[in-house]
Amino acid sequence: MGMVIGDVLVDRDRIRAMCAELGGRISRDYAGKDVLLVGVLTGAFVFLSDLMRHISIPVSVDFVAVSSYNHGTDSSGVVRILRDLDTNVEGRHVILVEDIIDTGLTLQSLRELLRTRNPASFAICTAFDKPERRRAPIHVEYVGMVIPDRFIVGYGLDFAGRYRNLPDVRILKNENEGGIPCL
Ligand code: 5GP
Repeated sequence: MGMVIGDVLVDRDRIRAMCAELGGRISRDYAGKDVLLVGVLTGAFVFLSDLMRHISIPVSVDFVAVSSYNHGTDSSGVVRILRDLDTNVEGRHVILVEDIIDTGLTLQSLRELLRTRNPASFAICTAFDKPERRRAPIHVEYVGMVIPDRFIVGYGLDFAGRYRNLPDVRILKNENEGGIPCL
């Protein structure tokens, strides 16, 4: 069955308000501290670029790219680093920036890895969270929006590499549910 791009779940105005709220909280919580924002490629680059412009304290930015080892359709939760950080995180206040947390297995593994490098502190900031699907008990300090258990695209999130450029977050649906057909 083909897939279609369905209804808007989160529109651009709500996304903007979410980034402003999170950026404000981070600016207050980390005032006077040396913050490193670590974006998880590829999906988080759109959110990170909006979020950082709502942060009023000086921050540095770096990126990490990971791929999870999959056994069939089930994520093993072990991540392989495809692109490591350029920055030494020792003594830095690290905020890992994610697009969405689903099972939490990717972030759990990434968190354990970065903690071995002795940052001064470690926190997680995600644009979207699907807590219904959580399999790893991770604590997330900054959650933009809790969403239902649907597969979403847009605002950095892809389906088969496409639709990251959509300015609103939309639900991916089966074609019999109606919507704009996928390429
Ligand atoms: P986790 O390890 O938490 O299960 O996986 C998180 C990753 O799965 C996200 O960074 C994202 O790449 C992908 N993912 C999870 N849910 C969605 C979704 O609804 N839409 C898209 N496009 N990717 C998702």
